[in-house]
Amino acid sequence: MDLYTFFRDEGIEIYGEAALPALSERDREYVLEFFPPGESVIVFGEAVPVEVYSLNAQNQTDIMLEIAERLCEKAIQLEGVLESEGIPARHVPLYLPVRIKDGRVRGVVRLKQVAAAAGLGTLGKNTLLLNPEHGPRLLLSGVVAGESNIINTNSVQKQENAEDQGNQNPDICIGCGHCIKACPAGAIGPDGVEVFSCRMISPWVPGPVVPIAKWLIGRQLLLRCMAPIAPFIAKTATIRCSRCVTECPVFRGSEKEI
Ligand code: SF4
Ligand code: SF4
Repeated sequence: MDLYTFFRDEGIEIYGEAALPALSERDREYVLEFFPPGESVIVFGEAVPVEVYSLNAQNQTDIMLEIAERLCEKAIQLEGVLESEGIPARHVPLYLPVRIKDGRVRGVVRLKQVAAAAGLGTLGKNTLLLNPEHGPRLLLSGVVAGESNIINTNSVQKQENAEDQGNQNPDICIGCGHCIKACPAGAIGPDGVEVFSCRMISPWVPGPVVPIAKWLIGRQLLLRCMAPIAPFIAKTATIRCSRCVTECPVFRGSEKEI
């Protein structure tokens, strides 16, 4: 199936597909928990324009939510297109609803990791996807499909295995540590972002509750733990900090800044 026309008609320029073998074992497990027939993930994104980061917090939030919701609508459309072709598919919901099974949070597809595996960029120390053209400004959406090699066009990045990934995706993060220094909360460490310290999250999780939340969820699930509170945050919060994005030297894209 050639999805080039779909993405072109929808005005989406950044997209790719990662077959399951291109993902880490952990991400493969997450994808299969989310959608057991899954064989690949189609991931796509839209960049938040540079100027948006100069707007006030409320306007920034509104624009980012607008982009994220638009992407989610495209994912729902794409799911319909695939299913009409007989390919089982499930879009990754914007607010990442999760289920708890055997005491574990399950069902989250990590789109940043998938996008890196699909060749759309590499992960930075700030834990964000760094895209060659748009730096850390991409918002992502995706669809898990029960077939691989769905995107059949020369214009798309596609990774078949982890070795391809290493060869074709040179690291965009230059390891400068600016994001770590710029973080007002000291939330970025060697293990990634400590979400309970991040100024985007900390106002919504009272200090005394943090140890319990950590005990319940576990450090390795920090990304996942954001999911249950994401709708609440998105609907009610404003962007409080984006310094790990704006202070990154590839903020405008690695091809423009360095
Ligand atoms: S958003 Fe701000 S507080 Fe959160 S990790 Fe980035 S720089 Fe730190
Ligand atoms: S600020 Fe530097 S270390 Fe942090 S993600 Fe950007 S390039 Fe990497």
